[in-house]
Amino acid sequence: MTKHIFVTGGVVSSLGKGLTSASLGMLLEHRGLKVRLQKFDPYLNVDPGTMSPYQHGEVYVLDDGAETDLDLGHYERFTNAPLSRDCNFTTGKIYQSIIQKERRGEYLGQTVQVIPHVTDEIKNAIRKLSGPDVDVIITEIGGTVGDIEGLPYLEAIRQFALDIGKNNCLYIHLTLVPYLKAAGEAKTKPTQTSVGQMRQIGVQPDILVCRTEREMSEEMKQKIALFCNVERRAVIEERDKEFSIYEVPISLSENKLDELIVEKLGLAAQPLDISDWKALLNRLLNPRQEVTVAVVGKYISHSDAYKSIYEALEHAGIAHHSRVIVRRIDSEEIEDGKAEAILAGVDGILVPGGFGYRGIPGKLEAIRYARERGIPFFGICLGLQCAVIEYARNVMGLADANTTEIDQTTRNPVVCLLDEQFSITDMGGTMRLGLYPCKVEEGSLAQRSYGTTEANERHRHRYEFNSAYRARFEENGFRFSGTSPDGQLVEIVELPSHPWFLAVQCHPEFRSKPTRAHPLFASFISAAITHSGN
Ligand code: GLN
Repeated sequence: MTKHIFVTGGVVSSLGKGLTSASLGMLLEHRGLKVRLQKFDPYLNVDPGTMSPYQHGEVYVLDDGAETDLDLGHYERFTNAPLSRDCNFTTGKIYQSIIQKERRGEYLGQTVQVIPHVTDEIKNAIRKLSGPDVDVIITEIGGTVGDIEGLPYLEAIRQFALDIGKNNCLYIHLTLVPYLKAAGEAKTKPTQTSVGQMRQIGVQPDILVCRTEREMSEEMKQKIALFCNVERRAVIEERDKEFSIYEVPISLSENKLDELIVEKLGLAAQPLDISDWKALLNRLLNPRQEVTVAVVGKYISHSDAYKSIYEALEHAGIAHHSRVIVRRIDSEEIEDGKAEAILAGVDGILVPGGFGYRGIPGKLEAIRYARERGIPFFGICLGLQCAVIEYARNVMGLADANTTEIDQTTRNPVVCLLDEQFSITDMGGTMRLGLYPCKVEEGSLAQRSYGTTEANERHRHRYEFNSAYRARFEENGFRFSGTSPDGQLVEIVELPSHPWFLAVQCHPEFRSKPTRAHPLFASFISAAITHSGN
């Protein structure tokens, strides 16, 4: 029978429930268990796809095209659990399904209510992931206890233990133990209050994971145990990590969290072996060299807006035993001819995805700088579209070349909408989304990097390279090294005359793991290392 772990959060948001859930998944997998992970987000958007990166950080895309919360990125980077659109539900998605059923008359005349209909819908979503081949489902509840919008989820997980038996469920509550400088001590009261709120709802946490800046004293752990009605060994310290998020599972295992979970849920688990993880951390903490890469984007001020890009760069660093120092550059700061002042000294330039006009001129300048100076350049999605525009304008003399996303009347629409996107008016879930195959040209930089002529990558975009211009680009030294299998859509472009200039229409960053760097990122960092002369 599938067992369930519910992860809730208290005191404040941004405690890292996603990372903790992912770390738990990683530890249980390393004990030979089959794990699934899932997140509920209590907001009303049907998915985060329509939200600004400033609001929500990155939108993380899955193989099946689901646009999801960025915590699912942590789940995929830390575990091998397969993820699908059943792994992320928002209140909007839950209600959308209920309202559709109500309109179809499926409630047979009943009054449709939060309890039982919304809670049933939530419980069904949890059950959906269970199966004979699944040992544990980790369900993360977004938000913080005390939020009005989170109540139906907490009620649903309370009921869940009644449905399947308390022995088959485990409640883990993440809290904050703040250190008060003026008082010179850490405080347990917020944790007590937050657990009190959980108990009022009817959920007694089994394990408390305490986020803290400083080491917690034994006395403090005992106090929390007593006041929060949990065993002393179930008070787990999770101290802030100085170097890397990949330290989190190791420190949780040192605090015996996996042992406790295995025992409490009666799981038939193997002894923990995390030597692979320790090895990657060792590479991360003891690099042989450093390289500096500039990420030139417009959402730089939000630390999570390019989350998977930053992670993928770090993974590529791990693969090369190197530290990748990322210089985050707001593309709006790069004005005409000012690229050198801002970008001097970098060993690689990456232009990530994005939407809309703002920041585009700076991206074009950064690409021109990389192209002219032979600095390794990696363009992703909008980054490819900008690389195409920059080449058309500055090399091919098409001064007004543009994407129709920005200028619908340009005479040279080198990037434009396909017919199938023309008539779409709904914004949600209507882009070209999810995994698509790509045919990679033999002998190209892309093929050498991938080590194969077939790639599969995730997409999230509306606009495409305009194939009517293909021949003219080729005549001018551009190479289209990856296309859809029918050859119609351009997926990868490169410049053979440049040491490393490659751009992709897909989002390879979503398929990179710390234990398995993405081949394009690895190749880019290798070129950056060569450029740096290390
Ligand atoms: N805005 C561009 C498009 O829709 C690029 C999207 C992206 O970078 N994810 O095609």
